[in-house]
Amino acid sequence: MPAAQPHPCPCGAGAPLDGCCGPFLSGRDLPPTAEALMRSRYTAYALAEVDYLLRTHAARTRPARQDIADWAAAARFTGLQVLQTHAGGTGDATGTVTFVARFVADGQVSAMAERSRFERDDGRWVYVDGEQP
Ligand SMILES: [Zn+2]
Repeated sequence: MPAAQPHPCPCGAGAPLDGCCGPFLSGRDLPPTAEALMRSRYTAYALAEVDYLLRTHAARTRPARQDIADWAAAARFTGLQVLQTHAGGTGDATGTVTFVARFVADGQVSAMAERSRFERDDGRWVYVDGEQP
């Protein structure tokens, strides 16, 4: 069997999935920054990895599993652009990432802009909530 062409990571960082968000989704590594977590959550939406989306969501704001699954199934994610990050680094406890996610839902091309808030929970980054930038 010839080696398969490396699958580019859906987050658009330019690396293959296995060298980008893949190790985070598999649980082998923890995203070191809020932006890395944000990218990996976008990738998880694109791949409908609902368990990952649940476990990287702060417990106090976590939606129902079905809501996440429905949204991941309804949309086909076509691109991510990170516009701005604030804090969220390896030495920070909180951070924000502003991004635009493009997707197709109900046959309509759409984009969603959000400023997401992240915090560390027991050392690992989790998504808290977001607002319109
Ligand atoms: Zn990625």
